[in-house]
Amino acid sequence: MQSSLWNEDPEIAELIDKETARQQDVLRLIPSENYASKAVMEATGSILTNKYSEGYAGKRYYNGQENIDAIERIAIKRAKDLFGAEHANVQPYSGSPANLATYFALMKPGDCMVSMALPHGGHLTHGWPITASGTFFKSYQYGVRESDGRIDMDQVEQLAKEHHPKIIVCGASAYPRIIDFAAFKQIADEVGAKLMVDMAHIAGLVAGGAHPSPLPYADVVTTTTHKTLRGPRGGLILCRKDLKKDIDRAVFPCMQGGPHNHTTAAIAVALKEAATDEFKAYAHQIVDNAKVLASRLMEHGFNLISGGTDNHLMLIDLTNKDIAGKVAATALERAGIVCNANSVPFDKRGPFDPSGIRIGTPAITSRGMGKDEMLRLADWIDQIIQKPEDEALAQKIRADVKALCTAFPAPGF
Ligand SMILES: *Cc1c(COP(=O)(O)O)cnc(C)c1O
Repeated sequence: MQSSLWNEDPEIAELIDKETARQQDVLRLIPSENYASKAVMEATGSILTNKYSEGYAGKRYYNGQENIDAIERIAIKRAKDLFGAEHANVQPYSGSPANLATYFALMKPGDCMVSMALPHGGHLTHGWPITASGTFFKSYQYGVRESDGRIDMDQVEQLAKEHHPKIIVCGASAYPRIIDFAAFKQIADEVGAKLMVDMAHIAGLVAGGAHPSPLPYADVVTTTTHKTLRGPRGGLILCRKDLKKDIDRAVFPCMQGGPHNHTTAAIAVALKEAATDEFKAYAHQIVDNAKVLASRLMEHGFNLISGGTDNHLMLIDLTNKDIAGKVAATALERAGIVCNANSVPFDKRGPFDPSGIRIGTPAITSRGMGKDEMLRLADWIDQIIQKPEDEALAQKIRADVKALCTAFPAPGF
């Protein structure tokens, strides 16, 4: 395949090769990224991309579906078994369409939800004004407490009682603590709202038993499949049986046309991998690594929002280090450590020049790194942040990072 691509389109082939080298040679700390396995990538790159199959297994609009139906049924069964769900829809193109489909299934345009604000760790698709979710629906948004960085459940309850939302949404992109799904469910019940949990970031932790499952509490659970779950880029919706019809209809025909069958197959493969003991160990190692990294960074005087982490990520407010998030992220990248600048709750700088960085352990844990490597990493981060303009230091650490990456080869290559 590589050689056909080189013959056909050397310009793109070369860029893929360069990106391959980059993904091998740097420490990838963006918490939403990972390394999919070779088996997942084989399914993603398969001939299944050639087939159209609008509809659902057994009820398609075009002929020739015997293999596609079987693949989709396997993916659905594995999703239900892995997460303990009554129903699964495996067709959403990604996390964002999965969320929008859920809103269309449970609300009418103009209805309101209560959800987490983007600057406090929530996601764009949770009703932020410039998005489709915020255009079609009204969102009243909660955040974290300034005192301890934890979700302000009193505020959730107050917003819910005041606005009587159709849905309460929880789940986040930059929240380092375990979310109390039972508390959310109780509030949802009090006001007659449905509870939707977007577990995009933590799905792999939930699958591996390293984070409590939202399934016993939520009416609907949405997720991406490519973050901690380590599958292809895609989405999943899990729900109770009584919502199956509404959810399925909202995905197709409301939101989407033909499902991406190559992705469905790769999701099935990833779900099989995620059901293994090896994956359970991986999920726990992600959290163990994050805790080690967090406490070493705190020893170096870094200000971690909420004072640490329970999951795969940490959010660092760099205000006390006298460096802006983007400057820090750029300096780290020069040394082969790739993360992203991120707003912190109550950020005094603007969203385009935020005060923090967000780092996570899913990808480096997929390489097999453990405690010793986390300690080295924390020390490197500290050195760079102290001297962000020291080119010689950056080059020295860059070489050490590359040596470490060679010792822990990226899986799937
Ligand atoms: C990543 C993410 C999404 C969106 O997923 P895409 O696949 O990028 O559309 C939705 N919700 C949360 C909480 C996320 O972190």
